[in-house]
Amino acid sequence: MADKIDEVWDEDTIPFQDGPEDRSHHKYRCQSCGFSEWIPAWIIDEFAWDEEPGVMPDVDCPECGRPMFYTGETEDRDRP
Ligand SMILES: [Zn+2]
Repeated sequence: MADKIDEVWDEDTIPFQDGPEDRSHHKYRCQSCGFSEWIPAWIIDEFAWDEEPGVMPDVDCPECGRPMFYTGETEDRDRP
């Protein structure tokens, strides 16, 4: 049992390219208060671990706590 779990983890972790090298950011906007924010893609990847492939997860708005939604915009940006 334990061996099988280790194999799965090895396959899943190799393609992960997260960390400071990845400057890709996704733009999210709150539909309640209009707050928008560029969120590093590697953070979204961590939120997306239980989503279907290609589905962008929702994140909570830091201003009002309501869900923020992906606007469809993705850019390479330097960290603020
Ligand atoms: Zn908000």
